[in-house]
Amino acid sequence: MPAVCAFCGRAGKLTGEHVFGDWVGRIGLGRDPVPHGAGRLNRVGRELGVRSPFGQKVRDVCGECNHGWMSRLESIAQRVLTPMILGQPGTIAVADQGPIAAWVQKTALTAMLVSSEEERQNGYGLPASEYRALHDLRDDQNPLAASQFWVGRYQGTRLAAARVTPLVVHVDGLSDPDQPQGYAMTIALGQLVLQGLRFTTPSLEVQMDTGLELPQIWPATEPAVWPDGLPLDDATFLGFAGGKDFRSSDQRIQLRAWRPATELAPSRLAGGMVELPTACGKHSTFYPAALVHEAMRGRFSAFTLSCACSTHYLIVTEPDGARCKAAATAELISELYQALPGYEDEIPSEDGAFKRKRLTPSSPVPTRDGAPPNAS
Ligand SMILES: [Zn+2]
Ligand SMILES: [Zn+2]
Repeated sequence: MPAVCAFCGRAGKLTGEHVFGDWVGRIGLGRDPVPHGAGRLNRVGRELGVRSPFGQKVRDVCGECNHGWMSRLESIAQRVLTPMILGQPGTIAVADQGPIAAWVQKTALTAMLVSSEEERQNGYGLPASEYRALHDLRDDQNPLAASQFWVGRYQGTRLAAARVTPLVVHVDGLSDPDQPQGYAMTIALGQLVLQGLRFTTPSLEVQMDTGLELPQIWPATEPAVWPDGLPLDDATFLGFAGGKDFRSSDQRIQLRAWRPATELAPSRLAGGMVELPTACGKHSTFYPAALVHEAMRGRFSAFTLSCACSTHYLIVTEPDGARCKAAATAELISELYQALPGYEDEIPSEDGAFKRKRLTPSSPVPTRDGAPPNAS
């Protein structure tokens, strides 16, 4: 199959398009490696690996799109958003709100191109029609129809993240549909967070608000003052990106994460790391995605992680992801780990060699209250 541009559908030479425009790397944010998120499509999180913050590229966009309408959206985003990314208060004028919302949409769609062709054909990612529809609107510089966007302040540690969560519209008394009817897009850059909501079934569009009471920038009605509303931090980031902050104007209607999508396999990128929010509720840790792929094939591992508040965790992989089995001091967690039957080896990851214990089949594992097996 010849390579075609995801947005305009033209076959031909595709260029490398950065998920975030080059300008983001030049405005004085840090350059430490950060985990790249491309969508909350798996219960254990889905990360693209840990890389220098703005270097993530995709190869499904043609030069004409990249250097044309996409680049024009990048220039507007650079002019309007740079101060806010760096934490300087400001206002988003009504005339800029459509282009900024379109930029969020474009960036989210681009970030989702990082998934493999195979994953996309299996329903992972966003429908091809979303890309074409945004391309059709390229001269209007507006986001897709039946969409709503907000702007907020981010106080967490990610320098750059783009996440997409497919959603269903849940109506009281009815069972959830088996196809998503919309999706949430979340972009965090420096101190700025932008969130969009698009109903792919436009007849189901419901006017939403956010629990953080964020100023709405689309549909554009008045200048949006930044910062306003409550700040978003790391403890609430994943839930927020998962669409949990939306509040419906109609009590009987809620947005929920689309379940089949939340159970799909995580990233298959070599060396990719998977994010695991820890039990402390404040931090996240990372482990190699390879362990999830092994677990899906019935090979389970145990390993230990620690988070920034120096709590240590015993993690065990299961068929549907990784579970925290115990949270305790380094000494106790190490004891529990040592007591598990199996043998230890190392697997390569972007963070260097990662130690894990391959569990022998039907190993008993300690439960959350920390009782080790064979405690005698
Ligand atoms: Zn194109
Ligand atoms: Zn912690």
